[in-house]
Amino acid sequence: MSLSEEIKQEVDKRRTFAIIAHPDAGKTTLTEKLLLFGGAIRLAGSVKARKANRHATSDWMEIEKQRGISVTSSVMQFDYNGHRVNILDTPGHQDFSEDTYRTLTAADSAVMLIDVAKGVEAQTIKLFQVCRQRGIPIFTFINKLDREGKNPFDLMEELEQVLGIRSVPMNWPIGSGRELCGVYDRMKNQVELFQGKDDHSTIEVRKVEDYNDPLIREMAGDFLTDQLIGDLELLDVAGDQFDYEKVRAGELTPIFFGSAVNNFGVQTFLENFLQMAPKPGAKVSEEGPIDPTDDKFSGYVFKIQANMNPAHRDRIAFLRICSGRFERGMSVKHVRNGKTIKLAQPQQFLAQDRDIVDVAYPGDIIGLFDPGIFRIGDSLSQGKDIVYNELPTFSPEIFAKVTIKNALKQKQYQKGIDQLTEEGTIQVFYSTSFNETILGVVGQLQFEVFQYRMQAEYGVDVQLHRMTYQFARWIVDDNIDPGKFRINSTLVKDKKDNYVALFENEYAMRTAMEKNPNTKFLEVAP
Ligand code: GDP
Repeated sequence: MSLSEEIKQEVDKRRTFAIIAHPDAGKTTLTEKLLLFGGAIRLAGSVKARKANRHATSDWMEIEKQRGISVTSSVMQFDYNGHRVNILDTPGHQDFSEDTYRTLTAADSAVMLIDVAKGVEAQTIKLFQVCRQRGIPIFTFINKLDREGKNPFDLMEELEQVLGIRSVPMNWPIGSGRELCGVYDRMKNQVELFQGKDDHSTIEVRKVEDYNDPLIREMAGDFLTDQLIGDLELLDVAGDQFDYEKVRAGELTPIFFGSAVNNFGVQTFLENFLQMAPKPGAKVSEEGPIDPTDDKFSGYVFKIQANMNPAHRDRIAFLRICSGRFERGMSVKHVRNGKTIKLAQPQQFLAQDRDIVDVAYPGDIIGLFDPGIFRIGDSLSQGKDIVYNELPTFSPEIFAKVTIKNALKQKQYQKGIDQLTEEGTIQVFYSTSFNETILGVVGQLQFEVFQYRMQAEYGVDVQLHRMTYQFARWIVDDNIDPGKFRINSTLVKDKKDNYVALFENEYAMRTAMEKNPNTKFLEVAP
């Protein structure tokens, strides 16, 4: 087999996705069930254990241990039905950060997990929007069907109203909460029966003719059956038809109902998802799209995790492979600095185990030991210089003024700020009038990570003073009159000397926009 044939085969097998959810929707539980189906039995309980007993793991960042949350995202890999599955774990805590967003750029599709009782929640909305912008397919799993929840039609309406996406149910609940009897699979015409216990070995499925099959009435009784028939007739007539192209374009989300903790509906979901979800596709580079089957290796760094092992002070750069075949020990070009580097000890991730990886293919994520040579967004490539443009920046929403406690440490302080900005830990702004340094982030946690790392890595104690701004807009105007932006806002500069206006509320921002119709207000740096 030629190298490109081999790569093509491997790419066809791969599914790389992220689960997006509001905390408590059941992401940990679902991830664990998926790993179990993938035969990663030795991991049983490990996902949960990591969450509950974080003090036992020594190699996660100190803050993560203290707070019992996942600061940085890890990657889990398993095989199922001939597929190689990569799950990118995004922090579920509300203190998420830009890393969460960046991780989504490494995913080819997303699974949106929703609590049946709570519907679409705040963090789901934010994460959904990032996926939407990237145009990746989004699959919805409505969880906790064993509990009383919202009506399925209301949930579909909510997806449309709140997220602006149409949906098509792949299965439909028969009863709910205490009355839950099963789900009807609309594609395969079968009923998966709810057994209400956490048992992986017995998933009971009954084949039926259609939803009018008398067998359903026997199993579910008259009341639930009439309700099911009514609902499905309505969906058949008035609901969206399944349209593969629309799903692929992220315009239509297939919905699956189930209960992760009861392992109910999870396997059906996994199998359908793996069939419908896209394999790794071409990635945008400065030279145009690069096909994954291109036999020259390339990839980009989407995240850098510092201090995974405080004793060694090492960092791990997470690289998404975009084309070619990766081999341990291979030499590649670090495109930004033009140097050739050897990728000696890469790691692949399986829950908290770190395994050394010998070969990997597009769609896979590898962790590279980083002695401080990588920045977020760096591309590595073999053969030609490929620069990927996959990483967007995000408009900060939380701001703080930073001051140094010991003025003698000015030099280390500046170095720390420069490096951590470059790494993407925080965004920095300088006020034009008061000589203040202002940090901007999308999640409060980034401040804590910044403070911690300034102390741990640069020996500098910093103080952060929260500011009341909520929006940053980059000002593009040939004849900017700084005076204009001091009303209801503060004008600052970013590190490239671009003007940025900070606003305390949406009203102030709208007013400034209306008063300056010829000025462009950009959410991120031009
Ligand atoms: P995460 O914060 O999204 O990772 O959520 P977890 O997986 O930790 O789940 C949050 C809580 O919901 C836990 O107590 C789970 O046991 C529970 N849970 C998860 N799935 C289900 C479900 O299908 N039904 C019910 N009743 N509880 C569930």
